[in-house]
Amino acid sequence: MLKNRIAAARAYLEQFDVDAILFSDLCDIRYLCGFTGSEGSLLLNSSGGSFLTDSRYTSQASREVSGCTVVEFREKIPTIASLVGEMKVLALGFQPDSLNVSTFNALQRSMPDVKLVPLGPEISMLRAVKDDSEISCLARTAEIASGAFHVILPSIRPGAVERDVALQLEFAMRTAGADDKSFDIIVASGERGALPHGRAGSRVLLHGDLVTIDFGAVLDGYHSDETVTVAVGEPDPRLRDVYGIVKEAHDLAIEAIRPGVLLKDLDAVARDFIARQGYGEFFGHGLGHGVGLDVHEKPVVSFRSEGNVIEGMVFTIEPGIYLPGLGGVRIEDTVCVTSNGCRLLTRVPKDLMIV
Ligand code: ZN
Ligand code: ZN
Repeated sequence: MLKNRIAAARAYLEQFDVDAILFSDLCDIRYLCGFTGSEGSLLLNSSGGSFLTDSRYTSQASREVSGCTVVEFREKIPTIASLVGEMKVLALGFQPDSLNVSTFNALQRSMPDVKLVPLGPEISMLRAVKDDSEISCLARTAEIASGAFHVILPSIRPGAVERDVALQLEFAMRTAGADDKSFDIIVASGERGALPHGRAGSRVLLHGDLVTIDFGAVLDGYHSDETVTVAVGEPDPRLRDVYGIVKEAHDLAIEAIRPGVLLKDLDAVARDFIARQGYGEFFGHGLGHGVGLDVHEKPVVSFRSEGNVIEGMVFTIEPGIYLPGLGGVRIEDTVCVTSNGCRLLTRVPKDLMIV
């Protein structure tokens, strides 16, 4: 399995016209060679590969890493430079989003004759299409998080504090087997619902609030991402209407998913519907994003997206409307693209719940 991934990564050598690639993105490294620790680099050329790490991780790497040689370094840059020399590399590709400027400068100083080539955004498509083992892990992760939401639902009521709701949800996910939470859980109630990324704070839930809860679990490195907006008692009629619009936009986009559809057209399905209802200016963010070893990864589903939907992609659909001073609604599910549509990985039903 990892062999296929390394073979796919090698295709980028030709695409970017480089002799080797230095991977520094830890999620890509995990994906390609299996290493789960926090310090490592992967140097890949057409015939081999070396995984470099320090002594804290040598024994872990020897257990986890497959498909390339494990090299322990005392000093990282000179070790990379000497391997690059042995491989007779003239052009070395690197990942500009995960290699910092000081490392870049040190690499350039230590190998002045090697051309360092920043790899374009295509390299981040490496993990965009998931294989069966990834999809089943993503499904399990999403199931844990959705199940935990149902466990804590009774505690979402007037008088509850946002950050207590977040804490209970995290506890329920961990109790159900999650390794971690995907990100700081968002609980944005009442007027705070107008903040698309309102972190759980000290606000007390009031009767009539809409409460937007955005959460996810991590299992074996894979993330889930789901947003539920619930009403604590009967909400303001305008917010109820807005909920209906966001739900319709979400449903229309999910119905439109199939291989071959342009990602930006998918975004347009939801965006145009919301605009036709008069709320276009209140839906500022993209419709969705890929989910995998990172909670935000390729593909991006937005009006700027290039490329199309491919079977095996896993991404979110998360339209929202945010009304300053009043509140907001976001509804998010994570889907896996099938041969003729998609299936939902996240499990909380999205009809308006009034608790
Ligand atoms: Zn989310
Ligand atoms: Zn999301």
